[in-house]
Amino acid sequence: MTTPQFADRFAHGYDHDALSASAREHLWMHFTRMSGYRHVPVPTIVRGDGARIWDARGKSYLDGLAGLFVVQAGHGRQELVQAAAKQASELAFFPLWSYAHPQAIALADRLATLAPGDLNKVFFTTGGGEAVETAWKLAKQYFKLTGKPMKHKVISRSIAYHGTPQGALSITGIPDARKWFEPLVPGAHKAANTNFYRAPEHGDDLEAFGRWAADEIDRAIEMEGPDTVAAVFVEPVQNSGGCFPPPPGYFQRLRAICDKHDVLLVSDETICAFGRLGTTFACDKFGYVPDMLTCAKGMTSGYSPIGACLISERIAEPFYSGADYFPHGYTFGGHPVSAAVAMANLDIFEHERLNEHVLEHEGAFRATLERLYDLPIVGDVRGDGYFYGIELVKDKATKETFDDDESERLLRGFLSKALFDAGLYCRADDRGDPVVQLAPPLIIGQREFDEIEGILRAVLTEAWNRL
Ligand code: PLP
Repeated sequence: MTTPQFADRFAHGYDHDALSASAREHLWMHFTRMSGYRHVPVPTIVRGDGARIWDARGKSYLDGLAGLFVVQAGHGRQELVQAAAKQASELAFFPLWSYAHPQAIALADRLATLAPGDLNKVFFTTGGGEAVETAWKLAKQYFKLTGKPMKHKVISRSIAYHGTPQGALSITGIPDARKWFEPLVPGAHKAANTNFYRAPEHGDDLEAFGRWAADEIDRAIEMEGPDTVAAVFVEPVQNSGGCFPPPPGYFQRLRAICDKHDVLLVSDETICAFGRLGTTFACDKFGYVPDMLTCAKGMTSGYSPIGACLISERIAEPFYSGADYFPHGYTFGGHPVSAAVAMANLDIFEHERLNEHVLEHEGAFRATLERLYDLPIVGDVRGDGYFYGIELVKDKATKETFDDDESERLLRGFLSKALFDAGLYCRADDRGDPVVQLAPPLIIGQREFDEIEGILRAVLTEAWNRL
């Protein structure tokens, strides 16, 4: 049964309890254990401004995750609202199926100009998972068109998240996200990630560890047979598992390995692009040029959905020269309103020097979070730019982690809610070892860093005392 009176019920402001009851009844939330809300209100966010959000009760929170690694320019930006309204009134919708529209043309041109190397072709999607899906399909077809039809497999890294469409999910390396959907698309294999804190080799030498981790991908390609491997998918800084930055030299070595085997390097920048690390594209921060680059989230700061796969001239060439085409697309890919919002968002990046702001303040953000090392539960603080993971441990000296029961009690039973109740929206995650993830809007500075640290300190101290 629908609730036609919904609009009427909330016409004069939000009634938190009624919203919660209605959500419980009809709204299936993503990656959410729905039974968890049977007796607990559904947290409902109704408004945002800058780096703050408000719930239906009127309580305010610091948005420590930019929604979901998305709201780079902050909430409530009227320039983005106006850009959306203007475009919707001029041309609300037209697809990119054999026709173009000015906003998609302008945005593709701008992204190609901003991207490194010859990543000059832009295939729009509506989000990151579709961009990953697109890149894998494109890689397969590219090799079929260029006389290497056996090359179809993908190597990605353990615990990495690359989206939920079945191809992207195959590339994803999180067993719990995959297990119900097996068998998935065949040909997706996993290799080591760059978790230096738990390095199985070279734990005392970051550069040697980086060489080892890159060589693990080399070994995976050799094991599968280079003639069968089409692409390697990696994030510049891997999110899942809690922010694994690349060791120095890692990407240069990985680039050489991919070149040696004629395997395409795909940089999945769904999170890392658009200023998260202080550069428009994160591969620039680490000095490598991929063959394809996937991005989404921050492109519009979340004011409208869009994603993209950027493709090098070399990979695009067989599609542009002969009669063959790429039989792939999305009705809403490159939506005119989203493309217009992305253009306005990139204007904000330029006018407000958001990348420069992140680069200027990333050291202070790190230093503020590192103050938490005096807590017994904080094992590792790692990340880059405005993107951090704080790994929680039971024993700092041995790095012993929590067992499943403790993790359940600590993360689901206490931490996420306690942090939220204390005024910080962020995420406690145990897709690898337990971490608290932080990725605030790019507009914040020392005042908010201190607020984040203060809330984490109080809540993590209480978590430790409850163990
Ligand atoms: N790739 C990476 C690295 C991501 O972090 C995500 C989402 O968080 C995705 C792909 C999937 O993006 P979407 O949820 O927009 O499909």
